[in-house]
Amino acid sequence: MSNLSAAASNLGALDAAHHIHPFSDMQKLNAAGTRIIERGEGCYIFDNHGKKYLDGFAGLWCVNVGYGRKEITEAVMRQMNELPYYNTFFGTTTPPTVLLAQKITSHAGPNINRVFFTGSGSEANDTWFRMARVYWATLGKPEKKMVIARRNGYHGSTVVGASLGGMKYMHEQGALPIEGIVHIGQPYWYGEGADLSPAEFGLKVARELEAKIDELGEDNVAAFVAEPIQGAGGVIVPPETYWPEIARICKARNILLVVDEVICGFGRTGQWFGHQHFGVEPDLAPIAKGLSSGYLPIGGVMVSDRVGEVLVNEVGDFNHGFTYSGHPVCAAAALENLRIIEDEKLVERVRDDVGPYLAAGLKSLEDHPMVGQTQCVGLMAAVQLVEDKADRKRFEDKEKAGIEVRNHCLANGLVLRATGDRMLYSPPLVISRSEIDDMITITRNGLDHAWKVMQG
Ligand SMILES: *Cc1c(COP(=O)(O)O)cnc(C)c1O
Repeated sequence: MSNLSAAASNLGALDAAHHIHPFSDMQKLNAAGTRIIERGEGCYIFDNHGKKYLDGFAGLWCVNVGYGRKEITEAVMRQMNELPYYNTFFGTTTPPTVLLAQKITSHAGPNINRVFFTGSGSEANDTWFRMARVYWATLGKPEKKMVIARRNGYHGSTVVGASLGGMKYMHEQGALPIEGIVHIGQPYWYGEGADLSPAEFGLKVARELEAKIDELGEDNVAAFVAEPIQGAGGVIVPPETYWPEIARICKARNILLVVDEVICGFGRTGQWFGHQHFGVEPDLAPIAKGLSSGYLPIGGVMVSDRVGEVLVNEVGDFNHGFTYSGHPVCAAAALENLRIIEDEKLVERVRDDVGPYLAAGLKSLEDHPMVGQTQCVGLMAAVQLVEDKADRKRFEDKEKAGIEVRNHCLANGLVLRATGDRMLYSPPLVISRSEIDDMITITRNGLDHAWKVMQG
């Protein structure tokens, strides 16, 4: 046996011995054993036992064009052979990097014309964080540097990313958040809206921003950051009143609006970007994930003219960048990915066809005793699990409810994610109606199973 095939027969043990996984209790994972995914095609992945799964989660919110797209593989191979790497630091660039920057901005609003490239969504958040502070300092306001973010938001895992995020269990590890970052509430009506209507609650939590700015002093606040729809926090779609009020407040108080498009970007919501769905205009917008459909790692920050003109014409050197900023092979993969999204009209498909179809399928689950509410925008959706719908009473053990549904679905060939008592959906944008039917059927069976378990 070659070393490789000897190793392959024993991958589980090697993984347990040598590989530390992200966001995992390694002792538990090693005891349970990891699943080894070997192959993907369309909306399906296959493990090393040949078991086939419908990937209702597009990898990790990212495989928008589905698996096995030879066009991307070939574009990557061509670029690898031509020029596998060159930097963008010292007055140089590469063809795919330039073309990608132009292509991305062509789909954003008229006020967004520039991109700064990074290797990931976390780096993108670190990048705009410095940009925002540099912007205000350059305009003579160095004290305007605090950033307001939200509880239960997610902006990545670097020190800035995890600080901006509002995950308590992340802050507890590493003494976060860093200084200069504070959090306000989230627009999670089902869980936190009490007796208010969704519209009233949306306004109430938006106005926490105004109160926080006034508490800190407008001259001390650089920016507010939020995901259009919270992803990792549980696909929480805000009430309609929320975003317009946020945009109004940012304008009235003269702070930058940063919209984290890492999940919502590139068709997920049925628009090119999530902010377009909600009709707001960001000053800065981190991107990653669907930008390359995960075929290679790449992220960036979309920069509005407001910030861009200052950054380009007044700052001088912006002392920031990554070895792989604008990596030519990653850019080639992203460029081909965006060509596919354009040519196959995937954004329109999500908006007009499969998005509404998924929403209707999920809605049909609302007759189930365990389903309190479903929310779906484009192909980003959640099913809220509940113990008693009458008064939105949630399970004592929220994690268990979600895990029971998820594990049953997994055993029946559907990959979903559970965040507490919310089941999350984010399938590839190429998913078909019959594949959506399968997701709904398997989910219903999972709910039946979990309902029985939770009743004891
Ligand atoms: C995934 C994610 C990030 C972090 O991106 P990485 O590529 O994992 O660093 C940032 N923001 C949001 C909204 C995300 O979902």
